[in-house]
Amino acid sequence: MKPLLLLCLLAFSPIATSRAADAAAPPRAPLLVIKAAHLLDPAAGVVRDNQAVVIDGEKVKATGPVAEVTVGLPPDAKVIDLGGATILPGLIDCHTHLCFSPGPYYDNTFRRSPIDLAVVTHVNARHTLQAGFTTVRDVGAAEYIDIALKKAINSGRVPGPRMLCSGAFLSATGGHGDANGFSPYLSFSAMAPFIANGPEEIRKHIRENVKYGADWIKLLASAGVLSEEESVGRPQYSFEEMKAAVDEAALWGRKVAAHAHGPEAIKMAVRAGVTSIEHCSLVDDEGIRLMKEKDAWLVPTIYCVSFVLDDYAKLGFPEHILNKARQVDTQRIETFRKAVQAGVHIAFGTDAGVYPHGQNGREFRYMVERGMTPMGAIQSATTGAAELIGWPGKVGKLAPGYYADLIAVGGDPVADVRQLESVPFVVKGGVLYKNTLTTDAVKVEE
Ligand SMILES: [Zn+2]
Repeated sequence: MKPLLLLCLLAFSPIATSRAADAAAPPRAPLLVIKAAHLLDPAAGVVRDNQAVVIDGEKVKATGPVAEVTVGLPPDAKVIDLGGATILPGLIDCHTHLCFSPGPYYDNTFRRSPIDLAVVTHVNARHTLQAGFTTVRDVGAAEYIDIALKKAINSGRVPGPRMLCSGAFLSATGGHGDANGFSPYLSFSAMAPFIANGPEEIRKHIRENVKYGADWIKLLASAGVLSEEESVGRPQYSFEEMKAAVDEAALWGRKVAAHAHGPEAIKMAVRAGVTSIEHCSLVDDEGIRLMKEKDAWLVPTIYCVSFVLDDYAKLGFPEHILNKARQVDTQRIETFRKAVQAGVHIAFGTDAGVYPHGQNGREFRYMVERGMTPMGAIQSATTGAAELIGWPGKVGKLAPGYYADLIAVGGDPVADVRQLESVPFVVKGGVLYKNTLTTDAVKVEE
């Protein structure tokens, strides 16, 4: 290099670099302040008056009485005053299937491909977010649609909730996740990724799911309602298979959510060490004791069964499937009440996809009718759910350092939990996604 040129570079490059850095640095977004007459703190189990949440970027900077936290704010801070509303942390649904939707039995069974599912999944994600659910644990999807959706949401290209995904669930051949009950001459090749038999296949299936981005492992431990097999709750994996699933998942730092309706399947899954029992409809007293002893979580999914009973006959579902829904619906009134009274950990989950996405909040009234307090039900969808999914410190609460995921409702959700069925104000990561509560001229992301 010629000495003069070298001198020029030495003389000018630091200035040029620092100018380039100045130009590249994005302007700092102004603080967002949301204030309201009430704020529900599920961690403390109380509602506080005249509160504000100060948001810096995607995180909460401060919460507290308006008079305290708004002192000394920079003049460019953007303030949204929600008047008499109640602010809550964004809700968490621990059991969704964003890629599935209810539809005619014949069409859904015989005429639908994973591509049909994939093209509408982002719409389901938007409905879920706009219903106030800012985080979901999605427990079963075709062709890793869930993981593709999570990436699209995280990159900001598609509006939707934060997602934890399981990829394909694990089912035994002929089990709840298989296309059972049809002629052997019909091919359901799209079901193949779901089928795993014996400890070795189960371990391989888990490794594949983890390889492609699964955060959780979903195991179909028992029969179910919406498949063709006769039993609703008989075990469909052996204890050794369930144990292999839990052990293999643990090797990769993952936990297992087990679909289980019947008492034996529930007890086998809990003894094998699964973290949550999904549905848990026909649990017996021994199972409840065992769940308490092992700190297993119950994810109830109550509303979806009512939806099946109200709507699935019209969709052409056969009587033997509807009969299974009736059996689950009547027996679980008592089993859920007993589990609540015994103090089993309850995490909110709905099986969204069995009913239309966006109706997730309807689950609350069923939980309250069956023995939970409104505050307990709200805690199950905030602090409780955050603990189950392994994200305490991130979501489920409004405190400094947590994601600025919050919702607001016009009335008092503790007096009337149905307030959470139509949430008019939704913020996720400091971005406003819905506001039909105030007429403030604030930009809403679509
Ligand atoms: Zn499910």
